Amino acid sequence: MIAIAIDGPAGAGKSTIARAIAREMSFIYVDTGALYRAIGLYMIKNRIDDDELIVSSLNKIKVDLKFVDNEQKIFLCGSEVSGEIRTPEVSMMASRVSAILAVREFLLDLQRDLAQKNNVIMDGRDIGTVILPDADVKIFLTASLEKRTDRRYKEMLEKGLNVTYDGILNDIKKRDYDDSHRKVAPLKPAADAVVVDTSEYNLEESINLVLDVIKKKLS
Ligand code: C5P
Repeated sequence: MIAIAIDGPAGAGKSTIARAIAREMSFIYVDTGALYRAIGLYMIKNRIDDDELIVSSLNKIKVDLKFVDNEQKIFLCGSEVSGEIRTPEVSMMASRVSAILAVREFLLDLQRDLAQKNNVIMDGRDIGTVILPDADVKIFLTASLEKRTDRRYKEMLEKGLNVTYDGILNDIKKRDYDDSHRKVAPLKPAADAVVVDTSEYNLEESINLVLDVIKKKLS
């Protein structure tokens, strides 16, 4: 099996680029952020906001990923939540729960299992460093804070969500800081990752840049 790991900060374009490449290569695209978002959503719905309670409620949670036409759908305790997890509130709670070691351990086997059974392009924060340290290709995808905020802001407006530019900017800044400074599995490029900065490129150019890296590594 072939594994391509794409890590990077919020709004770098990981999911859009990975999805396009997965389609082109007939791999499955695994968006690991959705797993942390599902756990975050559970905590929001059950009004749980205490580390010990978060950990003790994990045994009540069932998270499943299903792939329909190579497209990931996420289920929380049997109900599909693929759309519901895409709000700024859930983003922040996902980041909060993701700093807890027990949460990361809870989601580890599911991620490794998928990569063992399928050719995957998997995106997240710790795929190249922790989840798939032997991945065939590791890319660290990044872009300037301004570009990432612009992209995320437009995406949220298109979904009809009531957001402000400054609100998104502050959320991304806080998530970047927290994700890179946490003790467990902090966001950082793996030693053998290729860093791709998409600030100056449009989507098509960015996809081609990443595809070039993948083709070179796999040839
Ligand atoms: O990628 P996405 O923005 O959906 O991720 C939501 C949050 O989940 C991130 O801010 C990060 O805190 C956490 N996450 C993580 N490790 C991953 C994927 C996401 O800690 N592999």
